[in-house]
Amino acid sequence: MMIELRNISKTYNEVKALDNVNLEVHEGEILAVLGPSGSGKTTLLRILALIEKPSSGEVYFNGTKVTEGNIQELRMQTTMVFQKTVVFNTTVYKNVAYGLKLRKVPEDTIRKKVSDVLDLVGLRGFENRYANRLSGGEQQRVALARALVLHTKLVLLDEPTANLDPRNATIIEDVISTANHELGTTFVVATHNIFQAKSLPQRIALLRNGRIEQSGTAAEVFSSLSKTLASFAAVENTFVGDAKSSDGGTTVVEIGNGVQIETTAQVQGKAQVFIDPKEVIVSKKHFASSARNFFKGRIVEIVDAGNVVKVKVDVKGKLFTVQITRRSLDDLKLHVGSDVFLTFKASSVQVI
Ligand code: ADP
Repeated sequence: MMIELRNISKTYNEVKALDNVNLEVHEGEILAVLGPSGSGKTTLLRILALIEKPSSGEVYFNGTKVTEGNIQELRMQTTMVFQKTVVFNTTVYKNVAYGLKLRKVPEDTIRKKVSDVLDLVGLRGFENRYANRLSGGEQQRVALARALVLHTKLVLLDEPTANLDPRNATIIEDVISTANHELGTTFVVATHNIFQAKSLPQRIALLRNGRIEQSGTAAEVFSSLSKTLASFAAVENTFVGDAKSSDGGTTVVEIGNGVQIETTAQVQGKAQVFIDPKEVIVSKKHFASSARNFFKGRIVEIVDAGNVVKVKVDVKGKLFTVQITRRSLDDLKLHVGSDVFLTFKASSVQVI
């Protein structure tokens, strides 16, 4: 085991960000800390990175208790990539080489290491580009390269794909997976994204209200219809219902109020389904499509999330969330009260 938290609590003024957390991070694994916003993920990562002191409890690093005496030295063994990517206003090369320069690594070794890591993150040839002029996804890869180039045993990533489109998110996930295989890097990845937590990590710790409510392999955590998972995933397109196989070979899940969701997953009886908000198409007019799921509803809320917006649509008393770009929102002239159609494929409906 690489790092262990024992009875860790952290209080900010009156807010209890972490409440008696016990967690082991195993050497060589990818561990996802999955939880909704405000559940304590960042605080947990900062404590693992030894940049935040817990209010109570102990941290062990490779069996050694972290103390005032050894914290500086142990801190060097971990790198944290923060949620808000900060790239320096200089070239990609200088961004990535920075940490090695601080550590007084010889220039030719730096060149080799930077070149290797840029290969790993798919940014070969970007050495002389200005980092802050790159796209969001590319900047996130620069941030990751800056961490990986140090070859620390443990890398902590705070919501590494939160603001990325699916293509860039997949690239980041692939980089994490490759670094884990090829360099043996241990990763702890904080995420609120169930889909990311499902594919990438070997283990998942579910965090809610500062407590770890469940941990285990992805299969274990997702196979039980966890209340925790349901409660926060419910914020975005989680429905529980009765599943029956349909004539067409798909499964129909009746989620109440006469709303039926069709999925390609094979399941019977009580089932919990998720639809990724990015996979739902919203339109003002009905259009012909092969997608199996099609609903009429009304917009009840529009939540601004930066470049993207989340549109909440009431369909017979069931709330669906759709994520679209701000531009699409404007183009479609959508506002609260608009009548809309929602469309998504049966293959976009996941059963957990
Ligand atoms: P997450 O990363 O899951 O969104 P955080 O660890 O950022 O959660 O926050 C957990 C709780 O602690 C939240 O209620 C947050 O408002 C609070 N919190 C986090 N950092 C601070 C801080 N520096 N001062 C006061 N409250 C904080």
